[in-house]
Amino acid sequence: MDTSCIFCKIASGAFGTAFVHEDDAVVAFEDLNPQAPHHVLIIPREHVVSLSSASDAHDAMLSRLLRVAAKIASERGIAESGYRAVINTGPDGGQSVFHLHVHLLGGRPLAWPPG
Ligand code: AMP
Repeated sequence: MDTSCIFCKIASGAFGTAFVHEDDAVVAFEDLNPQAPHHVLIIPREHVVSLSSASDAHDAMLSRLLRVAAKIASERGIAESGYRAVINTGPDGGQSVFHLHVHLLGGRPLAWPPG
């Protein structure tokens, strides 16, 4: 755990954040500033700065992030209508919180290409 990392604190339960999903490897919670009717963040419990920081040792965790995103989408009834799973990485990728996370966005048509 990185004690200066807001997502580490959330994952530890320090803020009492309601989890949409939790297991031994990942937790999921509502984005503070939702960009779509459904906007959930799925993060590893382990502090990994970004996708670029992940190694072979993280293969199972990375798989878990995406599978949990799909599970939440299914639970919310948006699997058929569609959704987007996004990992913003680094400055040009628009990453603002430097703890790896997957955005699950859905519930409305999402434009492509993104801005
Ligand atoms: P990114 O720009 O890809 O790093 O995304 C970071 C996301 O974290 C943004 O969508 C923020 O709205 C969200 N966020 C930041 N702080 C919190 C928080 N305390 N609780 C929930 N979501 C947060």
